[in-house]
Amino acid sequence: MRSINNAYAGLAGNYLFSEVARRVRVYKENHPEADVISLGIGDVSQPLVPAVIEALHKAVDEMGRAETFRGYGPEQGYAFLRQAILEHDFLARGVSLDADEIFISDGAKSDVGNFQELFGEDAVIALTDPVYPVYEDSNAMAGRAGVHANGRWSRIIYLPCTMENGFRPELPTERPDVVYLCSPNNPTGTVLDRDALTAWVEYARANDTLIMFDAAYEAFIRDDAVPRSIYEIPGADEVAVEFRSLSKTAGFTGLRCGYAVVPKKLKARSSDGKTLLLHDMWLRRQCTKYNGCPYIVQRAAEAAFKEPARTQMRAVLAVYQSNADMMLDACAKLGIQAFGGVHSPYVWLKTPGNMDSWSFFDLLLEKAAVVCTPGVGFGACGEGYARLTAFNTPELTRAALKRLENVLS
Ligand code: PLP
Repeated sequence: MRSINNAYAGLAGNYLFSEVARRVRVYKENHPEADVISLGIGDVSQPLVPAVIEALHKAVDEMGRAETFRGYGPEQGYAFLRQAILEHDFLARGVSLDADEIFISDGAKSDVGNFQELFGEDAVIALTDPVYPVYEDSNAMAGRAGVHANGRWSRIIYLPCTMENGFRPELPTERPDVVYLCSPNNPTGTVLDRDALTAWVEYARANDTLIMFDAAYEAFIRDDAVPRSIYEIPGADEVAVEFRSLSKTAGFTGLRCGYAVVPKKLKARSSDGKTLLLHDMWLRRQCTKYNGCPYIVQRAAEAAFKEPARTQMRAVLAVYQSNADMMLDACAKLGIQAFGGVHSPYVWLKTPGNMDSWSFFDLLLEKAAVVCTPGVGFGACGEGYARLTAFNTPELTRAALKRLENVLS
């Protein structure tokens, strides 16, 4: 085929994770006896909780009986799940939304990747640096990122998140049409507190900027004063779309379920001056291109918002939180500066001795057989940092940290 989307030709390869995998493969070939432990994985290690499994079984049985069989479901999700989400995630925290402002999907990656289809070709996008790569790549694939040189796209506004600004992006000096914010953040593990989020909502309202708020890790927030939803900030429902996921909070990385909140107050204007609702545009997009998250998965997800699954899931989250605590303690013992890890499964550490990210990665792999994720893979401002994740088992996390202590102390 001769005619292709040229934007794909300008895309950088998925360098980070393929390069991590390549280096681990070479190491294993050279050290077949080595028992490599990964603190780099973004996938969960604990199984689904019993109440979710029970709901899944029940739904599977329903699919085998003529009177309860379900075929195509509503593209935007079943009412029972949207209602459960509304009650648990929003009404219980004093946020009022309508159930039909919640769109169920097969995960937050699809939603954050697909939503940019609603933006104009010339929309200017602002991203934090470091960043979850899907925001950047999906806009680059759509051809609105410009030219890629030296690790950056010419039409994207980058908002550095560094130790100096506490990993909180500063308000841009040049106005973007859209800004992506992620809290708790992947990769830095830090959060935007109420004041920081309020400043962004006020900026968005004053500048007609849309906020794409990724709350995939909200369940890890331990302090009630930290907002779990951007809609806890007054006026956010006029400027923000929110994305959530059951992947890390309920162990659905393999089952697949997430949701996007698109309030009906969110307005957009076409170039010929027509006013449209982003809600209606997203509904139209989903109805055309998506046939819905499987019924059995939505029943499992519904269970995850109710007791006894809530209590069971809290115990699983506590495992990851305790892993994160262990990682922070180990860094403190070693005199390594570490960030995040409190309201997040990610610890973002400053490499000791000003090592660059890949040298630190190689050192850990060669000397400790431990895998981390080099910070520079998430953006230029990640150079000199590395990400550790709390998703491995407590036993392997403890063993990996012991090795780190032996090598780095
Ligand atoms: N958003 C962020 C910030 C993530 O880190 C991830 C997964 O790693 C996702 C979204 C994707 O979540 P899901 O598994 O629901 O697609």
